[in-house]
Formats: sequence, structure tokens, C-alpha cells
Amino acid sequence: MEIRADALRANLDRIRRGAGPDAVVIPMVKADGYGLGVEEVVAALSSEGVHGFGVATVEEGKRLCGLGVAVPVLVLSPLPPGTEDDAVAAGLEVSVSNLETLARLTAAARRSGRSARCHVEIDTGMGRAGFDAQTVGSWAPALRAALDPLEWVGCFTHLHSADSDPASVDAQWSLFRAALDALSPPSEVRVHVLNSAGVFCRPAYASSAVRPGIYLYGGAAGDGGRPPEPVVALRARVVHLRDAVPGTPLGYGSTYRSVGRERWATASIGYGDGLPRALGNRGSALLRGRRVPIVGRISMDVTVVDISHVPDAQLGDVVTFVGRDGEDEIRVDEVAALADTISYEILTGLTARVARIWV
Ligand SMILES: *Cc1c(COP(=O)(O)O)cnc(C)c1O
Repeated sequence: MEIRADALRANLDRIRRGAGPDAVVIPMVKADGYGLGVEEVVAALSSEGVHGFGVATVEEGKRLCGLGVAVPVLVLSPLPPGTEDDAVAAGLEVSVSNLETLARLTAAARRSGRSARCHVEIDTGMGRAGFDAQTVGSWAPALRAALDPLEWVGCFTHLHSADSDPASVDAQWSLFRAALDALSPPSEVRVHVLNSAGVFCRPAYASSAVRPGIYLYGGAAGDGGRPPEPVVALRARVVHLRDAVPGTPLGYGSTYRSVGRERWATASIGYGDGLPRALGNRGSALLRGRRVPIVGRISMDVTVVDISHVPDAQLGDVVTFVGRDGEDEIRVDEVAALADTISYEILTGLTARVARIWV
């Protein structure tokens, strides 16, 4: 797996230009930097003047602190009860979705003598976390009071369909604004709404911060904006060549049989590396600049491609499953669509066995 730091930075630049001059950027680096390796992602982005980094869990946040990250680290998923002391002690900024967590944070801050910095999440339609915007009148006064002993640094909501339904972003924005008016946070509270797709489809809602993820890592973010620079390439070597006579069975379940005389190449990559098993008999790869179909089921450790039209292929050749080879390119979104999933799952599914080589 090759990862291009310059492409990551180029995508950050496009996000920044999309969001405009008033919004700071908080790159999301949860799930090990979307599978790329959080240490290197943070190293590549730290020099770019980002405001902070976003993660999902306290453990992820502590890992960033351990890396010496000097900017704020935001934990954006709700805290599991019992992790408040850890979060406060580590100096993390945390999201709050309910009054019970606020009370626990207040107690943790008191015990440690440190301040707890929090971002209030407002639920405008995602439904999984946050104070319900529809009923703001019923909780706003209690929330304001409960926030008093804490450091209130942010207020945010999360979009559910910015990549596919820009009108839904307008609806979520209206709900969010109404809740924000009821809460009337002090001016130093950072307001953030937009993920990658939101930055391109509704830049007017950038407010004071944006939280991009997938676009930075080379995954498309809806139809708005230019496609991202590809960041990740996934390649393997040819470890075996085979001439198959007509009717030769291939792979687990013998789901493929050679039609005529065929030549097959075995590549040293499988679903144990994170190549989706769903690509068996469906996907393709690139070899010597040409498309070669994946034949048979993908095994845990190897995948076979039909190289009948690439007669010059050799043992040791590089087979590209994501990335460019000559004139042709396979994008991570293409792989995701074939596997009936999204680029996020492909990237975060790449396993520890795959060496991450930053170029
Ligand atoms: C993951 C995440 C994002 C980033 O979303 P992308 O679609 O990857 O840009 C933003 N905000 C929150 C709360 C998230 O969990």
C-alpha cells in the first residue's frame, strides 16, 4: 500500500478553499486515520495549520496526545460512562449528547482540578447522538445551567446525506440554527457542521470550523467539487503463473472454470489484507497497464487474475488493485461500488498485514 502525503495535503487545500477563510479545519483522523496510519496522517497534516484533530474514542485521543499533537484533540462520539476521568485527565475536548454525561464530566473535572472542554452535539436528523433539535425548548435551559462549571468550546451537528441529498443539508441546517438561537452560545464557541461532502455542496454553512474526513484520504464526497487526488494505492506481486486448459476449476468452491486456454496469475493479496471478498469474479486489477479480471473467489491470502491478454507478464510483476498503472486507474470508490459498500469501509478495512509505505 502506497500513500501519497502530497495528495493528502492537496485535498486538505481544496477543503480549505471550499470552506472559505472564516472556517478552521479539523481533520477527522478516527479509525487509525481512516486506515492509513494515524501517526503519519497527523505528521503530514500538522504542518498545514489545522486547528485540531477529530477522533471517535478516548483511546484514539490519548494516542494522539502520545504522539505529541499540540493542537486540540476532539472526541466526537459520545463518551461511554466511566471514561470521563480519562478524557479530562488527557486534556481531550469531548462531545456531550445528554445531561447525564455533562454531570459526569463536571464531577470528573472537580476530582482532577482540571477543566473539561466540551462540544455540545445537537441532533438534527442523524438520530444516533446529540440533544434533539426538535425539542430544544425542553432542554435548553437545563443545558445552559449544566454547562456553567465547564468550558463550553463548541457546538455541532452531523449531516446524514450531504453526499446524496443536498436539500437534506438545508433542512438540518435550519433545525440546527433554531436550536443554536435558543441556546445562544457565547461568541467563542466554535460552530461546526460540515463533513467532506457538506463542504462542497453547502459551503455557506461552514460556520467557524469544518470536519472533513474521507475526501482528505482520496474518497469521493458526493458529486460536488472535483474528485479528490488519489491518496492510496494497493498493490501486490505476482507469485505464481499458471497455464490453464479449458475447463480448469479455480479457487474455493470452484466458482470459476477457464473457458478456453487461459493464463492465470496469482497475486499475493486477499481478504486477509482487506481486499473485499465480494470482488471475486467481479472486480479487476491492473497489470502492465492493462485491465485484468479477478477470477474465482478471493482467498484470505491470494487472488487470481486472468492475464490471457497480457502474455508478457512475469513472476514478480506488480498487480494494482487500487491506484494507477500506465493510462488506467482503479479508484477506491470503484472498488467500493463493486463490493456494494463505501470507500470508508474499504480504507478502514485494510489490515495490519499491509505495509503502509508513505511516499
Ligand atoms: C467521521 C466524521 C466526520 C467526517 O466525515 P467524512 O464524510 O469522512 O468527511 C465528520 N464529523 C463527524 C462527527 C464524524 O464522525
